[in-house]
Amino acid sequence: MSFPFAAVVGMDDLRLALLLNAVSPAVGGVLVRGEKGTAKSTTVRALTAVLPTVDVVAGCRFGCDPAAPDPACPDGPHEPGAGAQTRPARLVELPVGASEDRLVGSLDLERALTEGVKAFEPGLLAAAHRGVLYVDEVNLLHDHLVDLLLDAAAMGTAYVEREGISVRHAARFLLVGTMNPEEGELRPQLLDRFGLTVEVAAPRDPDVRAEVVRRRFASDADPAGFAATWAAEETALAARIAAARELLPRVVLSDAALRQVTAVCAAFDVDGLRADLVTARAAMAHAAWCGREEVTEDDVRVAARLALPHRRRRNPFDAPGLDEETLDQALEDTRPDDDPPPPDGPEDDGPDPAGPSPEDGSGPQDAGTPEDRSGHLGSSTGSQDAETPRPGPAPERAAVAPSDPVRVRRLEVPGIGAGAPGRRSRARSERGRVVGSTRPAGPVTRLHLPATVLAAAPHQHARGRTGPGLRVVRDDLRQAVLEGREGNLVLFVVDASGSMGARSRMAAVKGAVLSLLLDAYQRRDKVGLVTFRGGDAELALPPTWSVEAAAARLTGLPTGGRTPLAAGLLRAAEVLRVERVRDPRRRPLLVVVTDGRATGARGGDHLGEARRAAALLAGTGTSAVVVDCESGPVRLGLAASLGTVLGAETLRLDELGADSLAGTVRAARQVA
Ligand SMILES: [Zn+2]
Repeated sequence: MSFPFAAVVGMDDLRLALLLNAVSPAVGGVLVRGEKGTAKSTTVRALTAVLPTVDVVAGCRFGCDPAAPDPACPDGPHEPGAGAQTRPARLVELPVGASEDRLVGSLDLERALTEGVKAFEPGLLAAAHRGVLYVDEVNLLHDHLVDLLLDAAAMGTAYVEREGISVRHAARFLLVGTMNPEEGELRPQLLDRFGLTVEVAAPRDPDVRAEVVRRRFASDADPAGFAATWAAEETALAARIAAARELLPRVVLSDAALRQVTAVCAAFDVDGLRADLVTARAAMAHAAWCGREEVTEDDVRVAARLALPHRRRRNPFDAPGLDEETLDQALEDTRPDDDPPPPDGPEDDGPDPAGPSPEDGSGPQDAGTPEDRSGHLGSSTGSQDAETPRPGPAPERAAVAPSDPVRVRRLEVPGIGAGAPGRRSRARSERGRVVGSTRPAGPVTRLHLPATVLAAAPHQHARGRTGPGLRVVRDDLRQAVLEGREGNLVLFVVDASGSMGARSRMAAVKGAVLSLLLDAYQRRDKVGLVTFRGGDAELALPPTWSVEAAAARLTGLPTGGRTPLAAGLLRAAEVLRVERVRDPRRRPLLVVVTDGRATGARGGDHLGEARRAAALLAGTGTSAVVVDCESGPVRLGLAASLGTVLGAETLRLDELGADSLAGTVRAARQVA
């Protein structure tokens, strides 16, 4: 028994964004950003109950509409007048770890080659056709799957090709992704492809919060009873969606309204025209939702607030959100002279006087509940506090700002791993270049054709082949072995002690680590940060997907004091031991940023301790790189000898850049 959609409180933007997509799938889906524990998933899952039911051709696994079956349907062609059945709209969840085959479906290559049958097993895209496809933690999904997903969503078609055999089928669905920005951002080019975004946060108004808790308690105590008390509102919402869908084709976007759409998009400096299209579609959907056939300024305002925030972001470290003043100004500038400004409150000129207000998209029961505009504003002001760096504990020296990041060369873990897809180290993977063939352990997913032909060739005579065409049996089939790249865990161990010297050098060191963090972001790595200074080492950031969080910690990192290098290395060893249990396939890369010096209480053999800690790390087989921060005319070379104990390559700060290798070669030539 799921939570009724009509009973969701304090998530007004999210509910409205979902409803606009339910009215007009052309709006292009919703990306929901927000911290944990804000009932994002509950709200999304509740939506399907108010979506209109779907008529499907009986027995079709691809959800064909009996009135207009997909001509390319792999289960077709369907005869006119074939049996039909009605089912509720579906919510299909795509797990973050799903394979490509699971998403798009799979061709049975064995049957295709041995029996000549084009057998296709539908994937989640087929299951989601005419329903909702929901991806929790969409920011953790591999780029390649996100691409496939967004392509299908944009085209309304799923396309599968394997070894020259292809299948296509209709896949029109409402795409909803949720993500916690603290766990890492979605790349900007993917952000842009979601129609709308919503920032959710727990409501700030105590009355709204109390109502959330009250309804949650009521639902937990008696789910069926709670659902029953909301049944009438659910039915009314469903009817309103259906009515708005019918009305949508008659909604007119006047030249004046279109001008407001384009003026707003121009004011927010968005790239391309996708923003204008989405804003226009969302405004039309909002008009239909309000029972109007004409798009008003209010529709444009609502649409812009949902369609634009994620399109104007340029840097992964920028804060999201939309400046309301700029929005007001843009709308005002293009307002036709004879138009009065819109009323302050929600409009109530919809066709159904008993209907809900257009702003919140909820049922008539809302009159008198705390679910009002204060809750609405509370949820729209976002939750950016999390990205502010923590003040450090009484720094000996104020934090130094990092120098500008540069593109760095790829540091990789040697050998071949089998970790999650990424862009750092070599790994066996589902995608990539073919490096060999093998007998398949299970079903063949990637056929190695030459190896298969070679395996089948010697048996043709014995199998009684007389004419053209190879006789292939299951035993001949060979699976291709592919090599791609994996993401790693990049654990930084950064010396923040006084030995790092002048502010300018600390700025360069921070700049180098920031560059490596940006690189990790693009290579789909998890990152962690251990720092050491004064008396001890600190896990400044436990392994996370959020490069933003790491950058914030780094920028605010205070420096000064003694140099407990051994403590830093031992802390890193402990972090890696825990992560090896938690995520065993992800191979770690330790990046030690140090000048190699170690100091502490008088009389201790601090350098010896550091060497022993390094030897311990080397003994666990951890791959490491030492970034040598030593500078000045007299060099001790301590970092390099630490690198030797770690079995690590040692690079100077100026050797980290992507172009520095060429520079080194040039310099060497000049000397010769
Ligand atoms: Zn069909």
